[in-house]
Amino acid sequence: MKLVHIKQIRGSRSLYGTFLYITLFPLILFGVVLMIYSSVTLTQNIRAEVSNNLRNVGVAVLSAYDVSYEGDYNVMIVDGNVEFYKGDTFLSNDHTLLDSIKNDTGVEISMFFYDTRVLTTITDDTGRRFVNTGANATILNTVVGKRTSSFFSNVFIGNGRYFAYYMPIMSKDGLTCLGMIGMATPAAGVSTMVRNSVIKNVLIMLLALLVTAWFIMHFSSGIISIIKKIMKFLSEIAEGNLSTELDPMVISRQDEIGEMGRLTNKLRASLRKLIERDALTGIYNRRYGTKKLEEIISRGIPYSVAIGDIDFFKKFNDQFGHDCGDAVLIEVAKTLSEHMRSSGFAARWGGEEFLLVFENISGMSATVASERLLDAIREHLVEHEGQFHLVTMSFGVVQGRPELTLDENVNAADEKLYEAKEGGRNRVVGE
Ligand code: GH3
Ligand code: MG
Ligand code: MG
Repeated sequence: MKLVHIKQIRGSRSLYGTFLYITLFPLILFGVVLMIYSSVTLTQNIRAEVSNNLRNVGVAVLSAYDVSYEGDYNVMIVDGNVEFYKGDTFLSNDHTLLDSIKNDTGVEISMFFYDTRVLTTITDDTGRRFVNTGANATILNTVVGKRTSSFFSNVFIGNGRYFAYYMPIMSKDGLTCLGMIGMATPAAGVSTMVRNSVIKNVLIMLLALLVTAWFIMHFSSGIISIIKKIMKFLSEIAEGNLSTELDPMVISRQDEIGEMGRLTNKLRASLRKLIERDALTGIYNRRYGTKKLEEIISRGIPYSVAIGDIDFFKKFNDQFGHDCGDAVLIEVAKTLSEHMRSSGFAARWGGEEFLLVFENISGMSATVASERLLDAIREHLVEHEGQFHLVTMSFGVVQGRPELTLDENVNAADEKLYEAKEGGRNRVVGE
């Protein structure tokens, strides 16, 4: 059977393309926004964490000095040199405390008296400390000027770039800002940490995105392949192949697509009934009867054929009404098709005439079988509006001859039928 060409739709116009567009596009958009948002949040959190750590070190240093040495910070300039004191204790060049905290925490610490760096753990390449250097103007304005602690992510000390936290140092009475303390950690280390965390974050999200996309594509192509099965089924029906079968897997689905498959199947059954069956009696119509007989002939199966005609049928119509005639036709058709089920088939040939085809049965045996059928018709009184009607028929039976055409064989049966009518009706004339 030649199949109707199923138009192949590909790309963005295909259902698959639409599926991917309406699912993957928002997913990717959502994923990118989420990646950017979470990366920014992650970066901010890491910075906040670094800032917090630096602040804690600062608080520890200041309390360590306060516990060890009483009084306020101050300086004396002796011979142009800055001498740094806390209370009466001379602190210049005494980096023991700062160095030990640096050893424990890895954080660089500097102490400023006003704007001058008086103690620091930061050294240059030769190991010299960056003492007596100034501080960046912005930092001074913010910390000493406005007396606020602040985090800076881009501080250059010597040749290095640092993340640093600066806190004001207040006098004991809390009225004067004497300087500031700055805690710094190399920016490179923090940047590496941020980069690693962001990369890890992005990779995990990409992986989740890929897995979700795979599920969507897999699910979509599954649905599409089922729709294509229904399309193929419909194309066969469109071509007239009404005995085609729909994949049971489609019909057994409990969703809308399964329902679509079941409806398509029902459509095929209805079409088949419309095309193959006679509307009044429900048995095969003349066209399908002919088709079936053609198939038997083409397969070389021996057969016999009979034409049966209801005797004096007009009288049912004329005396009892058209409905009574219809009731007779329905009952006769039922009896004929039931009796023919095991030996061949019966079809309504037209009006009150029926075609009987006997497969693998000789003309003589078909004649005997037709006589039995006639008995059955006679025995089955047709009831209509409380009245029972005796129905008789005449049959002409011939054995199918291979050298004759289908029409010629049927005409031969028709001639026998004529003989039966002429001979007085209610009989079978065979060979
Ligand atoms: P005979 O014994 O010679 O066959 O006589 P008959 O009355 O059976 O034959 P005739 O050909 O004179 O009448 C057939 C009638 O069948 C004519 C037509 O109105 C009627 N008929 C044909 N189709 C239908 C149908 O579907 N329903 C009904 N009720 N009548 C039908
Ligand atoms: Mg007739
Ligand atoms: Mg008749």
